[in-house]
Amino acid sequence: MSNIVVTGAASGIGAATVKLLRSNGHDVVGVDLAGTEVTADLSTREGRREASAAVTDAADGVIDAVVCCAGLGPLSSHSGGKLLSVNYFGVIDFLDELRPTLARRERSYAVAISSSSTSTQPGIPGHVVDACLAGDEDLAVTLGDEATAIPSYPASKLALARWVRRESVTPQWIGAGIRLNAVAPGIVDTPMTSGPDLDPNLARALDFYPVPLGRRGRPEEIAALIAFLTSDAASLLCGSVLFADGGTDALLRQNDWPAVWEPSGEDLARHFTG
Ligand code: NAD
Repeated sequence: MSNIVVTGAASGIGAATVKLLRSNGHDVVGVDLAGTEVTADLSTREGRREASAAVTDAADGVIDAVVCCAGLGPLSSHSGGKLLSVNYFGVIDFLDELRPTLARRERSYAVAISSSSTSTQPGIPGHVVDACLAGDEDLAVTLGDEATAIPSYPASKLALARWVRRESVTPQWIGAGIRLNAVAPGIVDTPMTSGPDLDPNLARALDFYPVPLGRRGRPEEIAALIAFLTSDAASLLCGSVLFADGGTDALLRQNDWPAVWEPSGEDLARHFTG
């Protein structure tokens, strides 16, 4: 039995994850804007700090895994900046706050939720991704507001996938026994993709989104992957971004991955010498 923290626990993928983890016998502390054990607004620095202190208290200082599902969808009614604060900074700050607690366990797990929009939505604003990865939240918020929410969404998720790959391999994460990985869902039937606030244009685009499997994902299918990523069955995974999208990425980007590596002399010297 493990102690597992899940953000965005009140709805959709987060709620399905809480249900599955509890049915597997784990103790779960949920975080959301309302309706969970810990109420917190992860869009603010203070909210993230308060949330990490509250979940640590609730779990008596012992946390085996953290799953970050809280997120805002690509609705034109959201500000692009706020979306970046929740989807990117609300994840990386929360995980950074809890990293020392996770490191106290011999083996622990962290899961971020990216998105298949990272590889299948054209026109992602690279400067927004760069501002996120530079850790400059004020700049990212300004650029996100200018870009608007629809392009900021895949930007937040691309930055998150890259952050996971960059951080997972460092002494602070894998060196401390913490397996940090991400899931990249395709379209999953949740309030985010089918709620009454959905833009008519986005709803139409989602209806035409090609899914070779022939249907949208179910939150329970993403929860199953998250349950795997928070278990010792995933002990070899580090920095993986697992697509669970019914085949959309394989269909649209089939020749782009795996990508051939042409390392420079500098790359070789950096990675292959002691
Ligand atoms: P959802 O809207 O059902 O749930 C998101 C949850 O996040 C909600 O309970 C909401 O209250 C919470 N949240 C939002 N802002 C918050 C804040 N400031 N502080 C704390 N909690 C906050 O959506 P979902 O579809 O279950 O999405 C879960 C995650 O999966 C999100 O990160 C989303 O971007 C990602 N995702 C979803 C899909 C999809 O098709 N549904 C696809 C790819 C990725």
